[in-house]
Amino acid sequence: MPSKRLKVAIVGGGIGGLSAANAMFRRGIDVTVWEQVDPLGETGTGLSLFPNGLRQLERMKLGDALAGVGAKIGEGSGYYRMDGTFVSRVVTTVSTGWNGIYGMHRADLLRVLAGGLPSTAIRWGHRCIGFEQSAFFAHLKFATGRTDTADVVIAADGIQSSLQKYVVEPSTPEYSGSRAYRGLIPREKVPEWPKEAHQIWMGDGKHFMVYPVRSGRLLNYVGFVPTRSETIESWSATGNRDELTASFEGWDARVVGFLEKVETCFWWGLYDRRPLPSWAKGRLALLGDAAHAMLPHLGQGANQAIEDGVALAVFLEGRDSAEASDVLGRYEAFRRERTDVVQAEARKQGLRLDSRSGSLQQRDQEIARSVEFRKWLYDYDVEKAATAYLTKCGKLARA
Ligand SMILES: Cc1cc2nc3c(=O)[nH]c(=O)nc-3n(C[C@H](O)[C@H](O)[C@H](O)COP(=O)(O)OP(=O)(O)OC[C@H]3O[C@@H](n4cnc5c(N)ncnc54)[C@H](O)[C@@H]3O)c2cc1C
Repeated sequence: MPSKRLKVAIVGGGIGGLSAANAMFRRGIDVTVWEQVDPLGETGTGLSLFPNGLRQLERMKLGDALAGVGAKIGEGSGYYRMDGTFVSRVVTTVSTGWNGIYGMHRADLLRVLAGGLPSTAIRWGHRCIGFEQSAFFAHLKFATGRTDTADVVIAADGIQSSLQKYVVEPSTPEYSGSRAYRGLIPREKVPEWPKEAHQIWMGDGKHFMVYPVRSGRLLNYVGFVPTRSETIESWSATGNRDELTASFEGWDARVVGFLEKVETCFWWGLYDRRPLPSWAKGRLALLGDAAHAMLPHLGQGANQAIEDGVALAVFLEGRDSAEASDVLGRYEAFRRERTDVVQAEARKQGLRLDSRSGSLQQRDQEIARSVEFRKWLYDYDVEKAATAYLTKCGKLARA
């Protein structure tokens, strides 16, 4: 065992950064998260935690806290055509029958993740503005004047990552041509809405979805609409409610009726990146959207970020500073086999949901047949897979 605990600094206290910190903290790694935002507010709307992500967070003993704020997704979940014709049920279980899906308010998820760490492990309100590294350490600079030195730096600073340029030539995110109007409404405004349902309506170039969050007290909706002009990518940009409702005029009465209850919304430009040539250089590695920004059509961006963090923790446990570069290279090789597939499939799923992937009959069949792919996504246990990978590589061929 190394004589000194490995010191890791994570830039970005979003879902990926905080999950990674929890996984590392539980493995005895000395970890600090540097987040530009001051302590957590109510920013953001909903996202889905799927079994591949939830399984890992439960193992970090965060299961009870998540159950307290999540909304189970299950019965009544389905895909429909824009006129309300039923297409297929949504897969809500893994192969063993476990139903590990929660609709989450992003702020609730971040609070649970932050609550799993000692308060001293998160430094709020520090925007990272500089990085350098040598053969022996990595060094960070923050806008507040603070600095930090660590054995390993993880860039979990999102799709607009400012640290990515220290790993690869900067590449701009690609605009998908679509904008997501998203928001939350209290369930009591639509009391008839089925309690656990994640419902998706698919139309011509557009789609609309609703699922519950915050113990079912709020309903999260997203309307995906094509636009010519690029839209900023942000958790808090205010959208135009009338444009949203006009976009879904004439759709299934359930969609139109739901949108009548919407008063305000946010919008979000949909961007992704093609797989980067590299995620790691020396003592610095990318994680989450900084490494593999993907379109949200499989609901996997945050779940893949959680998997990244667990893999890194497994790989870094018990390592010393001199091994950092080797370990981070293996992390990249291990993770991208999966994330390259998920990134590409998210694009394809977007085309299906927008009815732009062949005939409607063919699309409906593809959606109905996606059970196998969902099992591949949801059954996966990254902790086990990473441990098996290490064993296969002879514990990174350690001397
Ligand atoms: C419409 C939509 C729906 C989605 N639905 C789902 C879903 O259902 N399920 C799912 O898994 N994913 C979903 N996603 C994707 C998911 O939100 C992202 O993939 C996920 O948030 C990525 O996590 P991250 O930690 O990599 O980045 P982020 O969550 O973006 O976090 C990055 C953090 O870094 C901080 N930061 C940035 N720069 C700096 C700096 N210089 N210094 C310090 N801190 C910095 C930011 O403040 C932020 O807190 C959805 C996305 C969209 C757009």
